[in-house]
Amino acid sequence: MSEGARISGRDGRPAPRGVVVIGAGIVGVSCALHLRRDGHDVTLVDRGEPGRGASRGNAGILVHGACIPVGLPGMWRDIPKFLSGMEPHFAMRWRSLPRLAPWLARLLRESRASRADANAAALATLARHAKPAWRDLVERTGTRDFVVRKGWLKVYESDAAFDATANARALHDRHGGRYEILDADEIRQMEPTVAPIFTRGLYFPEFDSLTDPLRVVRAFAATFVGGGGRLETGEVTGFDLTARPRTVRVGSDKVAADAIVLATGAWSRGLARQLGGDVPLGVERGYHLMLPAMASGPTRPLLHGDHGFAITPMEDGLRLAHGVELASLAAPPDYGWVRRLLPHAERMLPGLDTRESSAWLGFRPTLPDSRPVIGPSPVYPDVYFAFGHQHYGLTLGPLTGRLIADLVAGRDPGIDLAPFRAHR
Ligand SMILES: Cc1cc2nc3c(=O)[nH]c(=O)nc-3n(C[C@H](O)[C@H](O)[C@H](O)COP(=O)(O)OP(=O)(O)OC[C@H]3O[C@@H](n4cnc5c(N)ncnc54)[C@H](O)[C@@H]3O)c2cc1C
Repeated sequence: MSEGARISGRDGRPAPRGVVVIGAGIVGVSCALHLRRDGHDVTLVDRGEPGRGASRGNAGILVHGACIPVGLPGMWRDIPKFLSGMEPHFAMRWRSLPRLAPWLARLLRESRASRADANAAALATLARHAKPAWRDLVERTGTRDFVVRKGWLKVYESDAAFDATANARALHDRHGGRYEILDADEIRQMEPTVAPIFTRGLYFPEFDSLTDPLRVVRAFAATFVGGGGRLETGEVTGFDLTARPRTVRVGSDKVAADAIVLATGAWSRGLARQLGGDVPLGVERGYHLMLPAMASGPTRPLLHGDHGFAITPMEDGLRLAHGVELASLAAPPDYGWVRRLLPHAERMLPGLDTRESSAWLGFRPTLPDSRPVIGPSPVYPDVYFAFGHQHYGLTLGPLTGRLIADLVAGRDPGIDLAPFRAHR
């Protein structure tokens, strides 16, 4: 690592010379861009190409103002249904159960009304700042054309499915952004190609969507490199934290670092432990199928509220994104979960061509309280954690980058980050 003169942060405070950011998903590239903007000598390391993790295959929805935690009151009642395999959008593998049990037990504790409310309130403090953070990076990286500003429409066939959103709506009313309740006619007016089988809708006008999340992450990475940042390919396996600068082991190489940012998504738990943080990070797996675009199809992302899947119009077709599969990181994929949703998708969008061009499995990094970890390691103040963004990682990535850069520079991030400490 080059030995430049010690630089100052934007407020004149001393700042580290060399920062290593580990993980080039939406969170890592956003951190790298912001840190580079502050003038740091930044190396972004990933074992593969930028954006090939969860940031590639998500539903592409920027859920600005959303704050609904995974654990919601009454969720324990659904567990037998999940274990039965009857709900393809929320599946659990029996074999993984013993391993998942401690995380699940914590998730259930976090689903109590008081905990869910506190978690939603914490997420809302981030959600309020997500949109300007996205706008900032979209302008800097020339990715405006990838952003669709038409909101998100969730539709419900049965009263039971709509009524089941009551807890989430109550939290959203208290803490989240704006939404509208639609009737059947209003749904038809908004999206005429959706079958007339849906009686209720929830429309979130402030949400945006991306037509190609992978290309956006790549554009962020290219801007970072174009601005003098260094991109290295290699697996980070460990650290030497006994001396300064610190050392990050990348394959057989060593990279010196005055500060380290860990942004390795669902793979963060073991590395965080080495860096002084014991964090109950779990994984919520999710699949997608790419289907051909329709000649006349939906113009904005849709969610089928009864069957829990999203359909997003993207540059290379329609993306059908699955809900959640609870299984370990290493368990082999079972694309059957997402394929079983195809008949419901066809019923939702008559004329849908269900011949898939690709299938994908990704990993959401999720803590039982649904709050990401954003802040310093409990042991090493020059090591920063930026992971655990669960279903909202695409949305919160740019904001997290800004917050981490503020912490590294010693600036006030303007948001109380105590709820997002590693050991909370
Ligand atoms: C089906 C599905 C749909 C989703 N839909 C949405 C949505 O609509 N909106 C939304 O906001 N979010 C959505 N999400 C969640 C979102 O995709 C994630 O929260 C987000 O992408 C996480 O970003 P990340 O940068 O933390 O992790 P990742 O994108 O997974 O990046 C982590 C990176 O770390 C690298 N890495 C890991 N270990 C190492 C190592 N030891 N050495 C070097 N590199 C390493 C990996 O290669 C990877 O590139 C969805 C997720 C799924 C699965």
